[in-house]
Amino acid sequence: MRKLVVATRNPKKRQELAALLRDMPVEVLGLDAFPGAPEVEETGATFADNARLKAEAAARHTGLWAIADDSGLEVDALGGRPGVFSARFAGPGATDAANNELLLTLLEGVPPEKRQARFRCAIAIASPQGETWVDEGVCEGVIALTPRGDGGFGYDPLFVVPELGKTFAELGESVKNRISHRARALSLARERLVRLWRLPTGQSVL
Ligand code: IMP
Repeated sequence: MRKLVVATRNPKKRQELAALLRDMPVEVLGLDAFPGAPEVEETGATFADNARLKAEAAARHTGLWAIADDSGLEVDALGGRPGVFSARFAGPGATDAANNELLLTLLEGVPPEKRQARFRCAIAIASPQGETWVDEGVCEGVIALTPRGDGGFGYDPLFVVPELGKTFAELGESVKNRISHRARALSLARERLVRLWRLPTGQSVL
């Protein structure tokens, strides 16, 4: 049984990863199982940098393989903002509502055809020997003129998937989890782990 530390204290993220690796001989551990694990500041310029910082710190601290993610929204009309500042766009500790309101204010007067955006998720896998690999998933969309739907979190009520004509908040969890940036990055990271560890797998993902 291989051990993999998820560099997060968020139990939902740990469960999401554990579910994805369910059919493989991998024990998924949270950072809370390792007292004294350092708090890593997300000081990177990109999602990949931040994911890498977190995974490497966790691998160093635990001496085990570690995995970490970072994600957010890039809006073309804002030159890629909020980007790595997605969680704190309206200020430190900002609520989702405040972030969404700021986004709509900054996009006032920008017509629908110029409201392209994407969610991006980077997942880093770090070995105890100090090697790191990063995979990325992207989901393209358009920022709505007003929020719609009450599912999900963060910018979901403003993020329209053009092919479906619905926001992430209107789609429901199972559809979102099939097409999201996070789902795509996780699937690539899973394939990478299978290759790195030469794992047997119940599903034909390779
Ligand atoms: P983190 O990677 O969990 O730190 O997420 C960073 C921020 O990006 C979140 O606080 C949200 O504002 C935004 N974000 C990331 N993924 C999503 C998503 O799937 N839906 C809505 N917002 C997201």
